[in-house]
Amino acid sequence: MNYDAKIPEGPIDEKWEKHLEHVKLVGPNNRRTYNIIVVGTGLAGASAASSLASQGYNVQSFCFQDSPRRAHSIAAQGGINAAKNYRDDGDTIFRLFYDTQKGGDFRSREANVYRLAQLSRNIIDQAVAQGVPFAREYGGMLANRSFGGVLVSRTFYCRGQTGQQLLLGAYQSMQRCIHDGMLTMHPRTELQDIVVVDGRARGIIVRDLVTGEIQSHAADAVVLATGGYANIFFHSTNAINCNATAIWRAHRRGAAFANPCYIQIHPTCIPNSGDFQCKLTLMSESLRNDGRVWVPRKKGDDRAPSTIPEAERYYFLEERYPSFGNLVPRDVASRNAKLVCDDGLSVLGDKGRAVYLDFRDALKREGKQVISERYGNLFSMYRDITNENPYETPFRIYPAPHYSMGGLWVDYNLMTSIPGLYAIGEANFSDHGANRLGASSMMQCLADGYFILPQTIGDYLHDIFQDKVPVDHPAFAEHEKDVRDRIARLMAAGGTRSPMSLQEELGRTMWDHCGMARTAGGLNEAITHIDGMKDRYWQDLLVPGTAAGPNQALERAGRVADFLELADLMCRDALHRDESCGCHFREEHQTKDGEVVRNDEKFGNVSIWEWAGQGKPHVLQEEPIEFKALPLMTRSYK
Ligand SMILES: Cc1cc2nc3c(=O)[nH]c(=O)nc-3n(C[C@H](O)[C@H](O)[C@H](O)COP(=O)(O)OP(=O)(O)OC[C@H]3O[C@@H](n4cnc5c(N)ncnc54)[C@H](O)[C@@H]3O)c2cc1C
Repeated sequence: MNYDAKIPEGPIDEKWEKHLEHVKLVGPNNRRTYNIIVVGTGLAGASAASSLASQGYNVQSFCFQDSPRRAHSIAAQGGINAAKNYRDDGDTIFRLFYDTQKGGDFRSREANVYRLAQLSRNIIDQAVAQGVPFAREYGGMLANRSFGGVLVSRTFYCRGQTGQQLLLGAYQSMQRCIHDGMLTMHPRTELQDIVVVDGRARGIIVRDLVTGEIQSHAADAVVLATGGYANIFFHSTNAINCNATAIWRAHRRGAAFANPCYIQIHPTCIPNSGDFQCKLTLMSESLRNDGRVWVPRKKGDDRAPSTIPEAERYYFLEERYPSFGNLVPRDVASRNAKLVCDDGLSVLGDKGRAVYLDFRDALKREGKQVISERYGNLFSMYRDITNENPYETPFRIYPAPHYSMGGLWVDYNLMTSIPGLYAIGEANFSDHGANRLGASSMMQCLADGYFILPQTIGDYLHDIFQDKVPVDHPAFAEHEKDVRDRIARLMAAGGTRSPMSLQEELGRTMWDHCGMARTAGGLNEAITHIDGMKDRYWQDLLVPGTAAGPNQALERAGRVADFLELADLMCRDALHRDESCGCHFREEHQTKDGEVVRNDEKFGNVSIWEWAGQGKPHVLQEEPIEFKALPLMTRSYK
C-alpha cells in the first residue's frame, strides 16, 4: 500500500489554510443524514464528538467508563501549550513548531507540527469561551509557566488540574448536543471490533459492560479517540483501564500502525514501592519550574537530604545542561536519572532507585503561600501517597512509562489507512516524533478534535453520500461471531493465572528490555519471551465468573491478549530502528556523554507496520519525513 500523507503543497505556514480552501464539504442540510461513531470521550473524543454534533452530524459516542467525564484525560495535571506570547518572551508559532520538532528529535511530520502550533492559539480562546478557569495574573491576564525543552513560558494551566477543567469544558459541549438530540452517549460500552466492508470502515462491534450483550452499530465514519498504550508496561502513570484494544483491533482489520516503539518515560513519578502496587503516580513536570533535581555526590550516601551539605549535592541536570537545566525534555531528564542511579548515586543509599526534586530554594525565595498556590494539590497528593511532607523534605522521584507517541498511522486529514476510519489524540501516531514535549498532548487532542477532524471529515463523507451499509449487512453478523468466539475462548481458558498477573509478567519484560534503554540482545530476548507468553496465554489464563454480565477479569483478559501482540510489534520496531532518537535509546548508538546518535539517512522516516494475518510476520513500510522548514540538527540542550 502507498502511505501518502496527502500533505498540501506550498509554504509551510500556508498549507493548512490552503487545504481548508480545497477540502470537500457536506452541506448543512445533508449532515443529519450521516452517522458518525466516536469511540472515546477524553479530550480528543469529547471535543470531536461535540464539534461534529454541533455541525449537525448524528454522533454516537462510546466509552468504557460510567461517564465521559472519567476518561483518562481528567488526570492531566500541568498544563497546555499555546503560542500566545502573553509573557512577551519571544514566543511565536514558528518557535513552538521548532521546539516540538526538535523535542521529537526530528521524527515528526513538519506540516502536522506546524499546523498544531498554528491551532494552539485557537484552543485557548475556545476553552476560555467555555469558562475553563485558567490561572490568571493579578491584572487578569492568563498566566503561563514553562515546561521542559523550551526557553519561553507558554503553558496555560489550572493549578495541577488542567485536564479535568478542559475535559469539563468539552463535556459541557457534549451535554448540550445530547440535549439537542444530535449526540447519543453509550457509557460502559467497550469496542471489540471494527467492521470493514469493501475496504471502508462501516461500524463497530461493542460489548455492553453491564449486561455483557454484544451489539453492532453502523456508521458512515468511525473515529477512534481511545488514548495511549503505556499500560503495556503494567506499571505506568496511566489510569489502570487504559488499553490498546481499539487501535489493535483496527490494526488487525487493516489500519497500519506507526512507530510503535516510541514510548515516553516520564522523569517525575513517585517511585515504585512494592510488588503489590498496580499503578504509578505522576508528579507533574510543572514542578521542574521551581524544583531542583539532585542526588548525593557520594555513592551509597544514605543520610537524610537536609543533612547533606550543598557541596555534596550533585545537581546533575543543571551541571550537564546549563542552558535548560532542570527543564530539559523528558527523555533527557529520564535518561540522566537512570544514569545516576546506575552509577550508585540513588538517594537514601541503596533503598530503591530515586532522585530528589527539591523545593528548598524555591520555598526560601517565593514563600510557602506562592508555592502552594502554584502546586498545592501536587504537594498534597505526594504527601497522601508517601506520608512525607515535600514542604519539608524533597520529593523522591523516578521515571515511569507515561505516553505513547506511536499509534495508528494517519494522513494529514487524520484518516487511517482504512478509508472512513480516523484516529485522533493519543491513539494516532501523532505529532510528537520520538519524544513529546510536556503540555503538548492536550494541545494535540484538542486541535485534532475541535479544529482538524471537523474540517477534514467532510472530504471523505462527501464522496460516500447516500452509500450506506445497514446494520443487518452480513458483515456485522460475521464480526459479531468473531467477537463472541474470542470471548468464549477467553472464558474457556482453564489455567490458574489472573490476567493481571500475566500483564505484570509482560510489563516486567517490556520495562527491562524495551524501556529507557534498549539493546539488540535485550530486544531479542524480549521477543522470545513474548512469543512464549503468547502461546501459553490461552492455557495459563483463568477468567472467573460469566460473560453474561459485568466481569472485570474478562475485560482485562481481552486487553492483555492485545497488549501481548502489540508488545511483540514494539520490540520488533525497536530492534529494526538501529539508531537512537528521542526516547528510543539504543545503547549501541550513543556519544561518550550518553547522548543519542541518530541515523537520519537510514531512519529519517516513520516506520509503518502492516498486519499480515494471524501467525504471519508484520510487513514494514516507510514514510520518508521531509525536513524543509527546519533543517536537521543535532539536538542539544547544553
Ligand atoms: C497523570 C498524567 C498527567 C498528564 N498531564 C498532562 C499535561 O499536563 N499536559 C498534557 O498535555 N498532557 C498530559 N498528560 C497526557 C494527556 O493527559 C493524555 O495524553 C491525553 O489526555 C489523552 O487524551 P485522549 O483523548 O487521546 O485519550 P483518553 O483521555 O485516554 O481517553 C480515552 C477514551 O477512550 C475510551 N476507550 C478506550 N478504549 C476503548 C474501547 N475499547 N471501547 C470504548 N471506549 C474506549 C475511554 O473510555 C476514554 O473515554 C498527562 C497524562 C497523565 C497520565
